[in-house]
Amino acid sequence: TQSCLDAISDASALNAVVTTTADMALEMADSADARIKAGDATAMTGIPLGVKDLFCVEGVRSQAASKILDGFTPRYESTVTSKLWASGAVMLGKLNMDEFGMGSATEYSVYGSTVSPWRATGSETKLTAGGSSGGSAAAVAADLCLGATGTDTGGSIRQPAAFTGTVGLRPTYGRCSRWGIIAYASSLDQAGPMTKTVRDAAIMLGAMAGHDAKDSTSADIAVPDFEAAITGDIRGKKIGIPREYRLDGLSDAIAKQWDDGAAMLRDAGAEVVDISLPHTKYALPTYYVIAPAEASSNLSRYDGVKYGHRAKLGAGDGIDDMYEKTRAEGFGTEVQRRVMLGAYVLSAGFYDAYYRKAQRVRTLIKGDFEKVFADGIDAILTPATPSPAFALGAAAEMNPVEMYLNDVFTVTLNLAGLPGISVPSGLSADGLPLGLQLIGKPWEEGDLLNTAAALE
Ligand code: GLN
Repeated sequence: TQSCLDAISDASALNAVVTTTADMALEMADSADARIKAGDATAMTGIPLGVKDLFCVEGVRSQAASKILDGFTPRYESTVTSKLWASGAVMLGKLNMDEFGMGSATEYSVYGSTVSPWRATGSETKLTAGGSSGGSAAAVAADLCLGATGTDTGGSIRQPAAFTGTVGLRPTYGRCSRWGIIAYASSLDQAGPMTKTVRDAAIMLGAMAGHDAKDSTSADIAVPDFEAAITGDIRGKKIGIPREYRLDGLSDAIAKQWDDGAAMLRDAGAEVVDISLPHTKYALPTYYVIAPAEASSNLSRYDGVKYGHRAKLGAGDGIDDMYEKTRAEGFGTEVQRRVMLGAYVLSAGFYDAYYRKAQRVRTLIKGDFEKVFADGIDAILTPATPSPAFALGAAAEMNPVEMYLNDVFTVTLNLAGLPGISVPSGLSADGLPLGLQLIGKPWEEGDLLNTAAALE
């Protein structure tokens, strides 16, 4: 714990950790020590972790990297973090992210951008650590913590993991409780572990997962021993390569890592087959209708009354002025864009044309996966991202749609509620990390982790 705290203060230039809870960490480390001595430890006892700023941690500033939650200090603890602390893990601090989880570069943050530890020193252009869980990815990659929590609504665990050479697991929807995690898009949000290795992800998921009466969408399904599922044996597994993911213009480096990954799985005894997920091309537009729609509803609670920022009001300002000014000042540009987009697709005149249609397409996308799994496919292999990490600052120059294209390989499984993992798969020609994605069957994270371990 102390060496992580030292590393955090040495790495302040990365801007990965936005609140350090040193006193809390040392106290928790002492209790972990006592617990280990008493012979009552779990695999997580004494493990120092970072927590994405989206998770409410009691008594610690938790503001989803937004000005609108300025100084918000919850008096309650998210279920996922309370489970981690109960297992003996140590809280090091809160990690940077895109405001409310909306973004792919951790540049839309009230705390400023996170810098990837890759090429962080030297005169070359700095790189993004991805987003929205960019602070988590950078902290794990730079050894500021041994693991971090992330959330994944459309790729926010897997894309930053791919950009930083770390492992990111998004579990099946309902595997981890969403209670106490600040909501972005409730039907898509899911918490998961970000770690250095697949085995660490298995151990950490075991400590995060489980049914919670406080989240009606958390599933009452037993949490198996995910670590024990990593046997190293994937003989006879059937891995699908979806042809629709071979996009026009896919770079040679990405195509090659994909082929190499397929070859590794084949060499380990898996059968690799071509499959079709015909509605793939509709996933991105469907996601960017549904996610903003849910966000516009979830974010309506930030009105300047209940918590966080309230705009200064002039004489004669009424309650509507208070709402308007507070929301105009408190939300960043991207969040405002999503709220407007969401309100538009949910509005009476456009609901059928956009929102209802997107819900129907979502069902078709889910059906594509159900069909290939019913045909005997155990997991699906794709690239995690269409490119390696891009330059920091590029987000400001991209138009929003260019930024959304980053999520082309990741959003499909969120729409279908499936688990997915990004595993480091070597370096691009210019020496930047790449990641491969494996998509698994619902509730089969153990099997998914076992297959992922064969790619390490
Ligand atoms: N980049 C995606 C978005 O902005 C994914 C975000 C996420 O998974 N939280 O919506």
